Parts: sequence; structure tokens; C-alpha cells
Amino acid sequence: MSTLLPVAEALAILLASAPAPPSAQIRSLHAACGAVLAADVVSPVAVPPEDNSAMDGYALRAADAVTALPISQRIVAGQAAAPLAPGTAARIFTGAPAPAGADAVVAQEQCQEVNGLLHVRGPVRPADHIRLRGQDVAVGTCVFEQGRRLRAEDLGLLASLGCAEVAVRRPLRVALLSTGDELVEPGAQPLLPGQIYNSNVYMLAALVRGLGMEAVDCGRVADTPEATAAALTEAASGADCVISSGGVSVGDEDHVRKQVERLGSLTLWRLAIKPGKPLAFGDVLGVPFLGLPGNPTSSFVTFCLLARPFLLRAQGVADVEPLWLRARAAFSRSKPDSRQEYLRVTVESGAGGLRIVPFANQSSGVLSSVCYSNALALIPPATPVTEGDWLDVVLLDSLT
Ligand code: AMP
Ligand code: MG
Repeated sequence: MSTLLPVAEALAILLASAPAPPSAQIRSLHAACGAVLAADVVSPVAVPPEDNSAMDGYALRAADAVTALPISQRIVAGQAAAPLAPGTAARIFTGAPAPAGADAVVAQEQCQEVNGLLHVRGPVRPADHIRLRGQDVAVGTCVFEQGRRLRAEDLGLLASLGCAEVAVRRPLRVALLSTGDELVEPGAQPLLPGQIYNSNVYMLAALVRGLGMEAVDCGRVADTPEATAAALTEAASGADCVISSGGVSVGDEDHVRKQVERLGSLTLWRLAIKPGKPLAFGDVLGVPFLGLPGNPTSSFVTFCLLARPFLLRAQGVADVEPLWLRARAAFSRSKPDSRQEYLRVTVESGAGGLRIVPFANQSSGVLSSVCYSNALALIPPATPVTEGDWLDVVLLDSLT
């Protein structure tokens, strides 16, 4: 038996083989969530643009607060402020610009107005309740570097700089093929003997779209060399990547490997991963190709751990690694596998911190093991687990 390829090595090969990112396009902020920045963003302005009040209250010089002060102006958000007359206070509201000459704002709860004079209770220190110009973003700061996947909060920050549009990478177009004579699309009633519904493509398309890319469902492929070659050729046309599920083991009915080899190139990896041993990588007519295993859970796990970082890198994303956390096993397993295992688990908070509870059925054909879990727990090859052991886990939310 030839040795199995460690997951980390397969990932390193994939990342090194990822093509250059696609061209840049300009998008409005509303259309930019999940897109990947094609250029650094340097702020042309300060945020906030001027010192302003963090409270409803009174702006004054902190040193003046010891005596009763006349109120010389009223400043609301959206208005310019006149300089503060010496020895006075200004009524001010949250977000209104602090007048020149004031160095603090006193919350209204700490104040009393009697006959037009302001009395302040308690100490006032310089800088109290003033949001300084540029405290969020200073002029000239590089707020985001190219290669960042824009999140909702990033769009808010970009808007605060006055940016209405950003340069992002054109989304990759990912063609999806489902191999297998047994597959029928959901909706067909009833299933004939031997048939199952095609579940992988719905999951994979949604995973691809969740990465901000375009997913093209190229349909089902019959288990014949001719149909496989025709479908691969069609899928590759206009695509940035072709991903198939099923048909990549070495069985008689697995035609993907031979046809990809004929149309381009292919390496069939036997990965040290459970679930998901067979994985094919190569190209079809020059377009990168990934052949995922057919079992839905294997398809999910190999997509998340290998196809996802490959696609993100090809999309131009700098940081493609999900965040792994450590949590304690709430279970024991005496019989380790020789492959690296990714258990479908629920990470929950307990008295002693995060605990890991595995889903009962870890079969690669049981997709509900993913649905009813919230994380994958990594069990290194040939490693037994004793309750209380620390394990690496990755939340499913950070893979989608
Ligand atoms: P294969 O890799 O083609 O031998 O498929 C392995 C297992 O995954 C078989 O039980 C297939 O029926 C199943 N399978 C393959 N493709 C799909 C799919 N698109 N949806 C659901 N199950 C699939
Ligand atoms: Mg098959």
C-alpha cells in the first residue's frame, strides 16, 4: 500500500498551484460584501473629521468646571461650532463638533442649569467624553490591504471614509459537475430502485457562492467515458475552475480520472484524511480541476479544507486559513485511525470552558452529521483521545 499524502502537504501544493487572481472591477459598496479588494485602500480623510462630543452635555474647559459658567451657545449634530467664549460652557449633543477652546464634555446627568448658569458636580478631566479627530482612522492610514475579503463592517468603515466604490476582483466562475448514474435531481418522484437524489451540487454551489464566487451547475454526468469527456469540456469553457464530485476512485465506473488525464493533466491523491481519501487535482483544457469524493460528508470536508483555500487564493485572498481553536474533548476514543480525522462535533461552552461533543454517527455517507454539528475537530493520525484532551477545532461558520 502506497503511503497517504498528509493534508498539510496537499494544501501546500494546492496553494502553490493557484492561478493569479482575476482582473479588477469597480463595485458600489452595496454590491461589495464578500468581494476581494484588488488594491490597498488609503484614507483620504480623518474619521471622525473633527473633535466631537460623545455625550449629551456641556462642552467647557475642564479647569473652568469649578465655578458656575454662563452658557454661551448650543451645538447640535450637523452644525458647525463657534469657538468657545472663555469662561463659558456650550450646551452640546452627541456627535456635535466640540468648539475650539473646549477640552472636555460633561455629561448632562452631572450638571444643573440654574438661572442660565451651569453648575457641575464632581471632577472633570481634560479629554473627558471628547472623540478626537482621527481617533478611528487617521488621514493617510492604509485601512485595508489588497487581498482582504470585505465584511459588512468593512463596508461601514469604507463608507465612513467617503468611499462610494471599491476596486475588487471579478468573482471566480466555478463550474460544478455531479457524476453518477444513480443521481436524480430533487423534485423527481418517486426514486426508482438504485437511485438517490443529487445532494452534493446544492451544497457545493452554496459553499462556492458563500465565498463570493459564481457557481455554475453543469448538471449530472453519466458514468461513461464519452459523457464524462463531453461534460468536462463543456464545464471548462468560460470557467475559472471545474469541481466535480464522485467518480474519482479507481472503480470501473469512475471515469473522471481517465478523461481529465486525456483533456489535461491529473494527479490522484490518496489523502491521509477521513472522511475523504480520494481527491483529484489537475486541469481540464488549462482550467484548474478538483475532483472531490462522492460521499456527501467527504465532499463537504474536502471542499472546506482543500478546495476552499485553493479557490480563495485563486480569487486573490491573502489570508485563506480559517481560525482553529482549542477545546477539550468530552469523549474518549481508544481506536485511532491511521488517517487524520475530522470529526463532526458540537462545540459547547461548559463550566471548564469549551467542550467538544462528537456526533454519534461519523460515517462519510451521513450528511446530517455535518448539519447537526457546528465544528470539525481534528484528530491527528494514529492518536487516541482521552476525555479532557485538548483538540483543535474549527467552527463551520468560519469555513463558509
Ligand atoms: P463515487 O465516488 O462516485 O464512488 O461515490 C461515492 C458515494 O457517494 C456513492 O455512494 C455515491 O452514490 C455517492 N454520491 C456521489 N455523488 C453524489 C451526489 N452528487 N449526491 C449524493 N451522493 C453522491
Ligand atoms: Mg460514482
